[in-house]
Amino acid sequence: MSPHRSGAAAIVGRPNVGKSTLLNAALGEPLAIVSPVPQTTRDRILGIVHRPNAEIALLDTPGIHKPHSRLGRSLNRTARLAADEADVVVFVTSAPVGAPRVHPGDRTLLVDIGKDVPTILVVNQIDRVKDKSRLLPLLEELGKLRDFAAVVPISALRGDGVSRVLDEIEKVLPEGPARFEDDVITDRPIRFFAGEFVREPILLSTREEIPHAVAVEVERFEERGGTVHIDATIHVERDGQKRILIGHAGEKLKAIGSAARRRIEALVDKKVYLTLWVRVTPDWTDSEKRLAELGYGK
Ligand code: GDP
Ligand code: MG
Repeated sequence: MSPHRSGAAAIVGRPNVGKSTLLNAALGEPLAIVSPVPQTTRDRILGIVHRPNAEIALLDTPGIHKPHSRLGRSLNRTARLAADEADVVVFVTSAPVGAPRVHPGDRTLLVDIGKDVPTILVVNQIDRVKDKSRLLPLLEELGKLRDFAAVVPISALRGDGVSRVLDEIEKVLPEGPARFEDDVITDRPIRFFAGEFVREPILLSTREEIPHAVAVEVERFEERGGTVHIDATIHVERDGQKRILIGHAGEKLKAIGSAARRRIEALVDKKVYLTLWVRVTPDWTDSEKRLAELGYGK
């Protein structure tokens, strides 16, 4: 019989390559929020994948980018730390639609991120590439940048290749016992995901600077009988942003609230009462104190 293995795999890469989509596909549960907006993921999110012979603690991380604020710098630190501490790095890149070239951001990241940790290269979004032979020169060029333990082309969106990524992770994990109960899929409280699930419809339905100016603070999370009562405040940086989020006669906020409520109900499997407020908290993305208050580390 093969030995039981367990450990942490950090999913890292540039923004928007599909790291959170990969986590969700691996878990079979849409735990991490996903949107076309860079910096959607602001925290490290742990998802536990239970396999017959292995327990994989998959860490989704913020995309590493050129930071323009304290929040941005904090996101980069979060991702680097996760990579350095993991047993395996899952480096995700996206298949380029145009010329099959290595993205300059990938070149920079592969120089040092988790450089002493076994690394699996995942080339995502191959559903967007019609002629798969175009991937070969890219894979070859990437292969020169690091000695990868494995290279796996996938489509996280369609779920293609995801179980192969897990197989490859399993191979390089150290031997060890399971650390979580069979039915546990994350270490974060539901309360955290309630805040994330309020942020998701905002990211999906607003544009330009608004997604980056929004933080959600869950003020109350109470289970009573079969129902969950949640009060949350949406922080924005300016008055105009607040007006947009509330919308004409409160329509916009109402739509955000219903979308979030449905998402939370699906996770907790209970009826949810969600009350939302919008508050202007000037410059929270650049204030150390406010960032800490809103739960974004140093
Ligand atoms: P992250 O920033 O790396 O976590 O990326 P997300 O998981 O949030 O995904 C960014 C965007 O890419 C979203 O709009 C996803 O729906 C999309 N996406 C993710 N994986 C795939 C894929 O395999 N194929 C395609 N076509 N789109 C994808
Ligand atoms: Mg993400």
